[in-house]
Amino acid sequence: MCPPIATNVDMQILQGIAVSPGIAIGAALVVEHQGLVLARRAVDPSAVGAELARLDRAVDAVGAEIERDRQAVAAQVGDQYGAIFSAHLQMLRDPHLHGELQTLIAQQFQAAELAVSQTLRRYARTLQELPNSFLAERAHDLRDLESRLLNHLLDRRAAGPPELDAPTIVLAHDLPPSQTARLDRRWVRGFATEVGGEGGHTAILAKGLELPAVVGTSTLLDEVLTGDRVIVDGDQGLVIIRPTPEYVAQYERELAQRQSRLADLAAWRDLAAETTDGHPLHLLANIEFPHELAACLDRRADGIGLYRTEFLYLGSDAEPTEEEHFEAYRQVVAALRPRPVVIRTLDLGADKMGHLPRTEDEHNPFLGLRSIRLSLRNVDLFRVQLRAILRASAIGPVKILFPLIATLRELRQAKLFLHETMEDLEEAGLAFDRNLPVGMMVEVPAAVMMIDHFLPEVDFISIGTNDLIQYTLAVDRSNKEVADLYQACDPAVVRLIRTTLQAARAAGVPVSVCGQMSGIPHCVLLLLGLGLTEFSVPPAALLEVKRVCRCVSMRQCRAIADTALQMQSAQEIDAYLKEELRKVVSQPSESRGS
Ligand code: PEP
Ligand code: MG
Repeated sequence: MCPPIATNVDMQILQGIAVSPGIAIGAALVVEHQGLVLARRAVDPSAVGAELARLDRAVDAVGAEIERDRQAVAAQVGDQYGAIFSAHLQMLRDPHLHGELQTLIAQQFQAAELAVSQTLRRYARTLQELPNSFLAERAHDLRDLESRLLNHLLDRRAAGPPELDAPTIVLAHDLPPSQTARLDRRWVRGFATEVGGEGGHTAILAKGLELPAVVGTSTLLDEVLTGDRVIVDGDQGLVIIRPTPEYVAQYERELAQRQSRLADLAAWRDLAAETTDGHPLHLLANIEFPHELAACLDRRADGIGLYRTEFLYLGSDAEPTEEEHFEAYRQVVAALRPRPVVIRTLDLGADKMGHLPRTEDEHNPFLGLRSIRLSLRNVDLFRVQLRAILRASAIGPVKILFPLIATLRELRQAKLFLHETMEDLEEAGLAFDRNLPVGMMVEVPAAVMMIDHFLPEVDFISIGTNDLIQYTLAVDRSNKEVADLYQACDPAVVRLIRTTLQAARAAGVPVSVCGQMSGIPHCVLLLLGLGLTEFSVPPAALLEVKRVCRCVSMRQCRAIADTALQMQSAQEIDAYLKEELRKVVSQPSESRGS
C-alpha cells in the first residue's frame, strides 16, 4: 500500500459568493485549466526513482521548448525580447526549486505533477503578495512554467471528462459552461470556483441543475487536492475544505432538515398561482437542458419562459445538426404541450462560445460579437436553428425569442431571416406554425429607451435582468471584483423595468421577466408591485415564488413598489424589501431560488 500523501490536513474555510442555494458534501475533483484533472496520486516508494526521472524528462522537455521559443522570438523582434525566456529558463533550472521538488517526491511520495503544481503555486503566491509590482508580475511567469510542466507530465490531449463513481464537488479556477455541461450529473453534488459572479453562466447553470454553488473564492485551488472532503454551503457562500467531523455532522443535519423543508414546499404545487386578492399569475420555468423538464412538470410550471438553447452547443464536440436541435426542442415541446415553450435563439459569446472561434482581440467580449449579433453574422448557423424551432412549432405551442436586441435593425433582420426560413419550409412541405409568436429580450438599456418603437413589432417581450443589470450599471456579471456593484435592486435598474412594464401594458404586449431577479423572493414583491404578472424562474424557485405570491395582495405590493421607487440605493431597497418579505411570509424562506 502507498503511504499517505502529506498535505495540509487542517480545515480551511473560504468565503465566496453564494450563487446557488443548498448544501453539498463530497470528494473534491480539481479541474485545472483546459479541463485537466490533477489526480491525487501517491508514488509507491519503490517507484520514486522512476518518478524523479519523469520529472527530469519533463524539465528537459520544457527547457528545450522555452529555448525554441526564445530563439523564435529573438529572431523576429530582437534579442532583448528573447531575454524574457532566458529568465524562464533560469527559474526552471533553479537548484533550490529542483531540490524542493525532489524532496516532495522522494520523501513525501507525491506524484511529480502534484509536487510541481503545489510548489510553483506557492512561489507564485509569495511573489504576488510582494508590494514590488515588477516582482509581483513574475508570478505570471511561474504560472506559465507550471502550465508548461504539467503539459508534459500529463497528456492534456488525453484529458476527457473524468469518470465519477461517488458524490463529487467540482472545484475549478473557472468552470466554463462547456466543461460543466460534460460532467457526469449523477455524481456531481456542487461547484465552487475561484472566479465568477452572481450573474455569470456558472451560476445560472448551477441553478438550472439545482446544485449548490459558490463562486469567487480566490485561492481555492491552492488549498485543496482531488479527493479531499469538501462542503459547499451555497446559502452562506462558504467552501469548507477538509471539514472536521463536527462540521460534517452539523452540515449533514442541516442537509436532512433542508430536504424535509423542501418536501413541505411540495404542498404548494397544486395550488393556483395568485395573489391573496385573486390576481392570477403565470409561473414559467427557465431551462438549459431537456432533462430539467421533470422538475418543471413536477412543480406544475405553466410553461417554459426561457429555453437557453446555447447549451446544446456546449455539451458536445461538434456543431449540432438541424436534427439535433429539432430533437431537443421536440422533447421539450411534446412534454409541455399544451403549455407554451419560449425557445430563445443562440446566445453564445462572452463566456459561452461553443465551437465558434473566439474572434481575436475581443477585449470586452460582453460588448462584443455575442448573441443575436453572432447569429446575424453566421447566417448558415442561424438558419439551421430557425428551421428546427419552426419544425418544433408544429408539435405544440412554441414562441421564438431573440436575445440581446439593441436596435430595431437587428430585430428586423432577425425577423426577415425567420420569414425567409418559413418560406423555405413551406416550399419543402414541412409543417410549422405560421403564427408563431415572435418576441425579443429587453436586456440592453437601448431597448428600453426605444421600447415604444419595438413593441409594435413584437408579440411579446421578456426582460433579461441579468444582462440589463450588467449593461445599465457597467458591471461585468461574472467578475467577482465588482460583484458588490451587481445589484438587481439598483434604482436605475428598477426604473428601467418600470418603464418597460408600463410601455408594454399601454401597448397591450405580454411581458415576462426571465432574469434571475424574478426568482428572488424579495424581488418578487417589487416586480408584482410594478405590475408584472408573468415570472420565468429557475425550476428550483417555482414553488418558493408561488408561496410568496400567495402570501401578498397586489395592493400591498403596489404600495411596496411605490415606496421602493422613492429610494436612492440598491442597499436601501434590498433591506426594505427583505423586511417587507419577512412581514408577509410567515416562515423563513428556504428555497431561495436566487
Ligand atoms: C438575462 O440576461 O437576464 C437572461 C435571462 O439571459 P442570460 O442570463 O442567458 O444572458
Ligand atoms: Mg441575457
